[in-house]
Amino acid sequence: MAGLLEGHVAAVTGGGSGIGQGICQAYAREGARVIVLDINLDGAKETIGLIEAAGGAASAIALDVTDREACKAAAAEIGRGGKISILVNNAGINRRNPITGEAAAVARDWDDILSINLDGMFNVTQAFLDQLRATRGRIVNIGSIQSFVHVSWPNSAAYTTSKHGVLGFTRALAAELGKDGVRVNAIGPGLIETRINAEARARNPEMVAMVMRHTPLGRPGKPADIAGPAVFLASDMSAYVTGSIIMADGGFRTI
Ligand code: NAP
Repeated sequence: MAGLLEGHVAAVTGGGSGIGQGICQAYAREGARVIVLDINLDGAKETIGLIEAAGGAASAIALDVTDREACKAAAAEIGRGGKISILVNNAGINRRNPITGEAAAVARDWDDILSINLDGMFNVTQAFLDQLRATRGRIVNIGSIQSFVHVSWPNSAAYTTSKHGVLGFTRALAAELGKDGVRVNAIGPGLIETRINAEARARNPEMVAMVMRHTPLGRPGKPADIAGPAVFLASDMSAYVTGSIIMADGGFRTI
């Protein structure tokens, strides 16, 4: 049986770890040729290994999404081998510090988080815009519960701001690119066990307990829990869906 993404070429930022790696594997399983874009080339190579071992096709380019010129160069290089039809803006970081903390450190966190989570998404999207319009492509942005609420683990003003921005960007682009046949959606993961929160989970079990009290499904998520919605949003199954966010959070916002 043909995969849902047969004939597609997908670029996934931050595809060398966690959620991005899970999405890359799922896209390859569904027949897409996957291009892993990550600042961490070792992680990207690990993803390629996993995909190839399962019989899929993947390649990687080392990319820092904050480097606008590098994003343009990567897009040009990829375009010479075939235009992408799926872009996943997934690369992101999180640091939790109170806004009242040491001023220079707080400002540094603000700059780093906003430049990767928000400017990075813009840089990569703009670099691939011509390809995505030519292929009537799909963009999937990775938001968060914090696209809506400031979760009651404190000290993440910059991250909350960035993820609200992801949702705003998703809606604005969906409105603007619909006429070109480009669909733009987001996924809002709950607490997913990856490297981004490994230290926080180990150091702060009460934080995990708090999230679980808000999670009807009663368990943290895995990258594979995000891969399903990501396949849906990239495939023709979601042909009439744009400007939406699919929450894959175990039901966090229901209670
Ligand atoms: P992860 O395991 O840390 O993966 C993130 C990947 O992005 C890493 O390979 C990282 O490389 C890479 N990266 C960091 N900065 C980059 C840059 N400037 N340019 C290119 N790549 C960069 O984290 P994850 O949990 O999978 O997170 C993926 C996305 O999901 C993020 O946007 C995050 O905010 C979002 N999210 C995660 C959760 C969760 O609970 N895990 C919940 C909601 C939303 P390095 O390892 O070298 O930094």
